[in-house]
Amino acid sequence: MTEQSPALDNLLTESRSFPPGAEFADAANVGPDVYGAAEEDREGFWAEQARRLSWDTEWSRVLDWSGAPLAKWFAGGRLNVAYNCVDRHVEAGFGDQVAIHWVGEPGDTRDITYAQLKDDVSRAANALVSLGVVAGDVVAIQLQMVPEAIVAMLACARIGALHSVVFGGFSPTALRARVDDAAAKVVITSDGQYRRGKAAPMKANVDEALAGAESVEKVIVVRRTGDALEGATPWVAGRDVWWHDLVDGQPAEHRPEAFDSEHPLFILYTSGTTGRPKGILHTSGGYLTQAAYTHHVVFDHKPGVDVYWCTADIGWITGHSYIVYGPLANRVTQVVYEGTPNTPHEGRHWEIIQKYKVSIYYTAPTLIRTFMKWGADIPAKYDLSSLRVLGSVGEPINPEAWIWYRDTIGASRTPIVDTWWQTETGAIMISPLPGVTATKPGSAQRALPGISAKVVDDTGAEVPPGGGGYLVLDKPWPSMLRGVWGDDERFRETYWSRFAEQGFYFAGDGAKYDADGDIWLLGRVDDVMNVSGHRISTTEVESALVSHPTVAEAAVVGATDPTTGQGIVAFVILRATHTTDGDGEEAVQELRNHVAKEIGPIAKPRQILIVAELPKTRSGKIMRRLLRDVAENRTIGDVTTLADSSVMDLISAGLNTGK
Ligand code: ATP
Ligand code: MG
Repeated sequence: MTEQSPALDNLLTESRSFPPGAEFADAANVGPDVYGAAEEDREGFWAEQARRLSWDTEWSRVLDWSGAPLAKWFAGGRLNVAYNCVDRHVEAGFGDQVAIHWVGEPGDTRDITYAQLKDDVSRAANALVSLGVVAGDVVAIQLQMVPEAIVAMLACARIGALHSVVFGGFSPTALRARVDDAAAKVVITSDGQYRRGKAAPMKANVDEALAGAESVEKVIVVRRTGDALEGATPWVAGRDVWWHDLVDGQPAEHRPEAFDSEHPLFILYTSGTTGRPKGILHTSGGYLTQAAYTHHVVFDHKPGVDVYWCTADIGWITGHSYIVYGPLANRVTQVVYEGTPNTPHEGRHWEIIQKYKVSIYYTAPTLIRTFMKWGADIPAKYDLSSLRVLGSVGEPINPEAWIWYRDTIGASRTPIVDTWWQTETGAIMISPLPGVTATKPGSAQRALPGISAKVVDDTGAEVPPGGGGYLVLDKPWPSMLRGVWGDDERFRETYWSRFAEQGFYFAGDGAKYDADGDIWLLGRVDDVMNVSGHRISTTEVESALVSHPTVAEAAVVGATDPTTGQGIVAFVILRATHTTDGDGEEAVQELRNHVAKEIGPIAKPRQILIVAELPKTRSGKIMRRLLRDVAENRTIGDVTTLADSSVMDLISAGLNTGK
């Protein structure tokens, strides 16, 4: 690349903007002055946020960055994370408040109050202690979205053991790799899980995964599907124990011990969108501070008033920070749903929102685009008037999907918070504040108060308004990762080597500033396409495609091209109302022209393929690297975190026959 060429071209413009309603702004948890205050005294600001929590010993230093890039936040402070999420709310008189409205996929429900949660977590903590689990041990948890999953995580936190949660749908190989990587001593799982209306075995997979796993001493099994599964649950005598046999008889009293602010809290593997997942380590005081603070300001959460629902799975960071730690530290009342969004019907989420009067709903663009595909008439059948804040996380949200979300789900009234962050950042970093920011469809906009993010060029210099480049975090933040488990080299190489001279954390994402200086995320730097010297982001071409009324989802990749260097290849899913017969040649031409009109001829896809599905990680992100393999006729790469591996065969077959 020459020195003049920008790291990323800026192609798509978006001028719509939605200021918060006056009433919302007046009642909001924070006002516009919060940015200035945080900027003036960053450490003082974070110390103030840490006081949301209850500490056994106050810290002696807010930030110790002397061992950079390994930070120590609230050094010398001591606290118990589980006490902060549960006990203190009971002690403050809120024991009867519902913490979790749990909804099982088959329709069974449980309401769990903070008082009950305290007893459950205490019993589970006593149970782990009875098995010999001590602070610093690792407990692997492979569970679907049942209350025991949250109880198990909090029980680990309570005794200072690290949890390593593994998504319930992962294969034995993926589980085994994670168990071995961290030498887990105990594994917690269930007999089976409900998915799409059927009971599927889980324990059998766990047994397969653990054959010969030397570190594992005990396997605790939650009974969930019971008789709905055929045959007895496979059992290894001496190793396996039922959750109810082990936990139910334990005393409901457990004295939480205070741990160092930097005591490890958990290991969690990244989604694997760009390659082999990384085991990210998070610690206690800084992590909980930022999770709680961001949940409070980004969602404008009011304890005891709002009903909150984050649709993520606890197998991902969003489930950790925005189902378990942030919300519970803030005394949330939340919905936890076990199943898939179309079981038994495509209105399941709206039905749940209507029933529990959910006021804050936090989901992923992939699901929003799926809802669009299913049609607006489905949510229209339900009363969604309780909603007052909508959130998005996981991928850039295409402006059209954003508008659909606001209009169709949010009655053209609710603010949308598009939250950018990563497993590594631990908590939200860039997002609008719903009572402050005039939101823009498709932009995460601005680093939160207390956080600093920049878009820089190849040399690490900040790009001007309107410019594109690399997203970096130029100042340490409380919930930052404390390493890649067992791989210090990978930690330094992946995040800290690109801009080592400046000491920036390199996020791996491309971004641009608009004329107002707001940040727009443009997808993975690895995915950026180079067409005749223009550096084009996948996000902008995808958003242009999704802005066409017939398109539900789009993924684009750059494939080697003899004349232009790379050519743009697009994979497109049409909306339910627009399925084409045959090869859809006319539809394809129209879409190519549409992209040229929206963002310019340079971005006109060389090839557009209409497909029924796209390859996605289990966390719902499009895996472009696999599509690139297809487009370039290569062997398909690592698919272990793919939600449905048959999707790739279908796409390859379609490509080879020219469809
Ligand atoms: P891996 O690191 O293994 O490739 P991953 O990056 O998908 O997996 P996560 O930590 O779950 O793992 O995802 C973080 C990434 O998700 C971010 O780096 C970014 O690319 C994307 N992302 C998350 N939220 C947003 C958002 N609001 N806007 C744009 N991109 C987002
Ligand atoms: Mg990543």
